[in-house]
Amino acid sequence: MSVLLSLKGLTLYYRTRRGVVKAVDGVSFDLKEGSCLSLVGESGCGKSSMAYAIMRLLPRNTHTYCGELIFDGKNLMDLTENDLRRDFWLKKMAMVFQGAMNSLNPVLNIGEQLAEPFTIHLGLDKLEALKRAAELLELVRLPNSLLDKYPHELSGGMKQRVVIATALSLRPKFLILDEPTSALDVITQANIINLLKRLQEELNLTYIFITHDLGLSSELSDYIAVMYAGKVVELGDIVSILTAPKHPYTQKLLAATPKLLEDAKLEFIPGSPPDLAYPPPGCRFHPRCPYVMDVCKVREPEPVKVSSEHYVSCLLWERV
Ligand code: SF4
Repeated sequence: MSVLLSLKGLTLYYRTRRGVVKAVDGVSFDLKEGSCLSLVGESGCGKSSMAYAIMRLLPRNTHTYCGELIFDGKNLMDLTENDLRRDFWLKKMAMVFQGAMNSLNPVLNIGEQLAEPFTIHLGLDKLEALKRAAELLELVRLPNSLLDKYPHELSGGMKQRVVIATALSLRPKFLILDEPTSALDVITQANIINLLKRLQEELNLTYIFITHDLGLSSELSDYIAVMYAGKVVELGDIVSILTAPKHPYTQKLLAATPKLLEDAKLEFIPGSPPDLAYPPPGCRFHPRCPYVMDVCKVREPEPVKVSSEHYVSCLLWERV
């Protein structure tokens, strides 16, 4: 599989009243075409900011945005917003935003909302655009009769399918899914995950799946990147991360995840993630790490390759 997305030192800082928030701090990884990478970590560790940085959807209070962002052979950093709007957003890359199902327009029916990308981006007339909207509903296994319905007439699962259909309207090859199942019951979550698997196979999609649920990520992913305080602290293929995690934070996250066939007591991680305006020096996890050493408080760990597709940023794995 070829590499579709390559990040090198991707950085996104925000300007706030409290100071400069280092939401994404020098993240590097490659993502292969047709694969799914889950981005996991606690709330506030920079997962959604990473998605915005990859999409180049930057808020007004952006303080620093730099690094290399190669998508499909092009460095997106070199493009203007007009270039991105014309050639990339929705056409090559799209995002299902967190809570997006609540942003469906309540006064437009589903047909009008699904038809909009076809009229705006492809210049189709209303009838042709509605035909395409019906095809999109079929793609996400919803009946045509929903074209005339309004968002309040749909269940949460149906609305999430509509949002996914909208993101796929112009057939992008890359999709970022920001917690697409977090507001849904477990049965609907499973249905949405199955839908995403089927769509990935049918359309050869590449996903970044953002979640704080390691169990859910294991259903869909080929790779997992664990984020902590704006940095990726461990990245690897799903089997390595779930069966042989190397970073103390990943180990703690897994120990806090319920397992059906084990009688192990659930653990918790003492403390809370740091304020990203004032992250701790050295390893950012050191105030919460059970294996902390003096050196961890002053030296920032670099990624170390522990097996062919498995990297960890922890001084326990560096030759100090
Ligand atoms: Fe813990 Fe030190 Fe490794 Fe950080 S570098 S995770 S503090 S052992």
